[in-house]
Amino acid sequence: MKIATTLFRYFVLILIALATVSSTPFSPQQPNILFIMSDDHAQQAISSYGSQLITTPHIDRLAKEGALFENSFVTNSICAPSRAVLLTGKYSHLNGVRDNRDTFDGAQPTLPKLLQQAGYYTAIVGKWHLKTEPTGFDYWNVLIGQGQYYNPRMIEMGDTVKYEGYTTTVTTDLALKTLQARPKDKPFCLLYQHKAPHRNFMPEPSYFSAWEKDTLPLPATFYDDYEGRPAAAEADMRVADMYMGFDMKLMPEDYEGYPEGSGGNAEFDVGESWSNTLAGLNPEQRSAWSQHYDKVRQQFRAEQPKGRALTEWKFQRYIKDYLRSVLSVDAQIGRVLAYLDEAGLSDNTIVVYTSDQGFYLGEHGWYDKRFMYEPSLRTPLLIRYPKAIQAGRRISQMALNLDLPPTLLDFAGAPIPEDMQGLSLKPLLESGKARRWRKAIYYRYYEYPHGWHKVRPHYGIRTERYKLIHFENEPGYWELYDLAEDPDELNNLYGQPKYEKRVRQLNRQLQELRRQYRDGR
Ligand code: CA
Repeated sequence: MKIATTLFRYFVLILIALATVSSTPFSPQQPNILFIMSDDHAQQAISSYGSQLITTPHIDRLAKEGALFENSFVTNSICAPSRAVLLTGKYSHLNGVRDNRDTFDGAQPTLPKLLQQAGYYTAIVGKWHLKTEPTGFDYWNVLIGQGQYYNPRMIEMGDTVKYEGYTTTVTTDLALKTLQARPKDKPFCLLYQHKAPHRNFMPEPSYFSAWEKDTLPLPATFYDDYEGRPAAAEADMRVADMYMGFDMKLMPEDYEGYPEGSGGNAEFDVGESWSNTLAGLNPEQRSAWSQHYDKVRQQFRAEQPKGRALTEWKFQRYIKDYLRSVLSVDAQIGRVLAYLDEAGLSDNTIVVYTSDQGFYLGEHGWYDKRFMYEPSLRTPLLIRYPKAIQAGRRISQMALNLDLPPTLLDFAGAPIPEDMQGLSLKPLLESGKARRWRKAIYYRYYEYPHGWHKVRPHYGIRTERYKLIHFENEPGYWELYDLAEDPDELNNLYGQPKYEKRVRQLNRQLQELRRQYRDGR
């Protein structure tokens, strides 16, 4: 009898234990993940990074309530390669996407697949840009290729769907719908990825009037002469050469007698591209565009700027449309953060904000990215997770986009594969400290001579103070910068006897990094 009672008690205990397991939706240790990424959003256009140009209250909220990485960089400053790094935690030479021409191999292990294995519901909405269909997602709805700014065509789980409206808003509507419809018995990981503020920077009408009467300041290096930097001199990414139609949004009759501009790719049929883009607007959008851009066109025809006046007119046009596109991104992020609050999800959700890389907002006279120079090597990185990250934390250690997959797996309590090359940022986020943190980062850019902008392939090392870059193509040459003395990287010190020892030491470190990351050639 006693044995029977004891067995019965055990039986009841087991039943209770089983019931507890099945009624717990998921381990309380597993946070939700909202990964927000925009395209080409420079740190210089975020107020919590000290922007003098724009106020971004919703992105700033993440800095206020979470952590901001003061020194966050990418490993290869161009769209598709950076996206592949963020999915795999591996450098381009290992994940297979070296430049925008490459196709992502979706069969390889990725962050969403590993999170699925750890019990997560995974989804992606918005920009994808990796050519093959997304893998590892329970739900996906992505823009085709680069996507359009208005009325985007998207692929939802294999089917093409056309949406009406401004893409930043459409993407956000889809993000909110996905969050609302998600299975509630699992933690989620949603990748919410904007097309904006990618070229050709088409704002939504509600922001057309922002900065309309202002003259925004030219960066100090706008009239750089590229002395001592032949690759910089060769690049085709000057604001002065931006397309009159596609970038400046003028009509051919407005700029008769002016060159179209090389625009980074003289072969590109820019006239057709801009007229196709305009034809994609619906009548209401078209009329809002006319109301604003007809004034711009009239002003151009009245002033007929030439020389520097034309270059500076182009800069104002470029920078204003870029910043207006950012205003929409910020406002839409605000909607999603408000949803997390309303749904009671803010405490148990890691929110990441980043971009696929930085961008030139006129520094060195440029737009675009690619170079290992600071404005495009840097990328915004803000992470909020109230349960583990002190509000207002500023992290100065060097972080890479490569670190995000291991970081998120670490927070999810999932194993980090040994061949992932990044470091988990979790200790830095939790305590501001990490033992033996990296003292240098490794960078490598490939896209040349195909593709856009004629930026010669290069690789290099950046320490806290120095940067050594090797431009590989014949005739190969090196650049060295002392970032403490020359933060704008105008003075190439390579070859000066005074720095010989420094170069030898940096080169040794660089070769070590190449071995460590298995980038041997
Ligand atoms: Ca990009």
